[in-house]
Amino acid sequence: MTTTPIELKPSSSPLSAAEREAILADPGFGRHFTDHMVTIKWTEGRGWHDAQLTPYAPLSIDPANMTLHYAQEIFEGLKAYRGPDGSVALFRPDANARRFQGSARRMAMPELPVETFIDACDALVQQDIDWVPAHGGESSLYLRPFMIATEVGLGVRPANEYLFIVIASPAGAYFPGGVKPVSIWVSEDRVRAVPGGIGDAKTGGNYAASLLAQAEAAEHGCEQVAYLDAVEHRWVEELGGMNLCFVYENKIVTPELTGSLLAGVTRDSLLKLARDLGYESEEGRISIDDWRRDTENGALREVFACGTAAVITPVGMVKTAGGEWTQGDGQPGAVTLELRKALLAIQTGAAEDRHGWVHTLD
Ligand SMILES: *Cc1c(COP(=O)(O)O)cnc(C)c1O
Repeated sequence: MTTTPIELKPSSSPLSAAEREAILADPGFGRHFTDHMVTIKWTEGRGWHDAQLTPYAPLSIDPANMTLHYAQEIFEGLKAYRGPDGSVALFRPDANARRFQGSARRMAMPELPVETFIDACDALVQQDIDWVPAHGGESSLYLRPFMIATEVGLGVRPANEYLFIVIASPAGAYFPGGVKPVSIWVSEDRVRAVPGGIGDAKTGGNYAASLLAQAEAAEHGCEQVAYLDAVEHRWVEELGGMNLCFVYENKIVTPELTGSLLAGVTRDSLLKLARDLGYESEEGRISIDDWRRDTENGALREVFACGTAAVITPVGMVKTAGGEWTQGDGQPGAVTLELRKALLAIQTGAAEDRHGWVHTLD
């Protein structure tokens, strides 16, 4: 029973099973979308209304739509995996729903009830359940809930109309040929977020702000950018779309949430899972100098990035304007791989869910 009445208007021309299977054989990431989407409107005075599941289709947007000009937009990302018994489960959708509310507050947008967020995700996955890849690999159905302002006008103020949408895209294994370490460019002049800014909201603006630094990383031969704090340019914060974890002997440390970091669901899950596996885990402060020194003296064994899309990505090489170093032996570390395997096992239903993280569709 859903608590949100979602009117079902399914497509009369979904892709054929053969077309869908062809996509699922090599889905990539974010390239193909399922047959349906869920939309819910919000208007001032009326609140949330008109929840619908409809065929996936383009939106018609007025050129003076406020989102296009002032970027009142937030999003989420979570995955549905198929379990060994064929059932389908979302990983911690309640955590994404609560973060979505936090992002909405920061961007002066209306908060969607947690239940409604989960019901909308459930409805879409239920309808497009054949798009959830088979159990056994790391493939999943990636859900992208998001909200935009829909009011038309160029006045600068919070809009009085919004649209919440959920779309879904099959995602292949992030590392089809085995886990590969990434190289990191540490940006010492560009910042992702500032104290009091929007770094702790999952909003497109943070990504727009990161693209130039990302291009600079590529010029330095690196795949990802690590950002430092905006005040002292010293404390390690995170990557453009993933949090960072530092593995010392028997202890995992991740930068504390100062307000300019995004509170990753993967980060939070790993802090807990690490303890289940017998490691200590804590939030702390790590400077770029600590990172380099502790790597060189061997105290810092492994570094990895974490987020929903790639789950865990080992860091193999780090470059700064002042020099570069190999992380450990440049290969994925043992603790990194152990955590990755343990988390994926819970997400895919292959291991026991001791924390109540897995939300199975009924
Ligand atoms: C989404 C995101 C993450 C990772 O969050 P998860 O909930 O683990 O997917 C980390 N950093 C930024 C900036 C993000 O936008």
